[in-house]
Amino acid sequence: IEFEHCGFPETLNHNLKKSGYEVPTPIQMQMIPVGLLGRDILASADTGSGKTAAFLLPVIMRALFEDKTPSALILTPTRELAIQIERQAKELMSGLPRMKTVLLVGGLPLPPQLYRLRQHVKVIIATPGRLLDIMKQSSVVLCGIKIVVVDEADTMLKMGFQQQVLDILENVPNNCQTILVSATIPASMEQLASQLLHNPVRITT
Ligand code: AMP
Repeated sequence: IEFEHCGFPETLNHNLKKSGYEVPTPIQMQMIPVGLLGRDILASADTGSGKTAAFLLPVIMRALFEDKTPSALILTPTRELAIQIERQAKELMSGLPRMKTVLLVGGLPLPPQLYRLRQHVKVIIATPGRLLDIMKQSSVVLCGIKIVVVDEADTMLKMGFQQQVLDILENVPNNCQTILVSATIPASMEQLASQLLHNPVRITT
């Protein structure tokens, strides 16, 4: 596949070029078409493979055509990773209408995150602990979520976030598209995948 043949809006194609994304990486070649079809995905992909854009492009295309806010949720184990994902998301979404993001992560002050959350953001990028804190004290409306990504799921398990991820995903509609990305897929990951994914397409590079 080529980015130009994916049916992206002109602005998005322009942003891809501007970021230096000319040719899709192998994981992108596999994940983008399947992601755009709305299928659940279990992907094994390492940092450096281009996995972030591989899930961001389907997320952006879904959120772009949804009125509900927020309509996409990206869960990631660490603040640093969340910040990197948001940076890439902003680059790719630049100039697209009504495509605000919010970072809901620990280690940063809560009030600005709550304020931002109320500004009709389309995409939440969160760490599990902070998102659950916010869900407890304020009504984070996850009922409009149409696509969820769990990034670095193996790190999530290592850090003991399994139950928190399950608790969060219990609050999103169950017809929601779910993408699980993990460096490795051990038995524990297969088990989590079977709890979170419906008839997933498996992708490895
Ligand atoms: P990731 O594996 O998502 O952490 O991405 C690794 C790096 O590759 C990031 O700096 C991306 O900006 C870059 N990247 C991702 N996809 C492409 C692409 N198709 N062409 C060139 N660079 C890319």
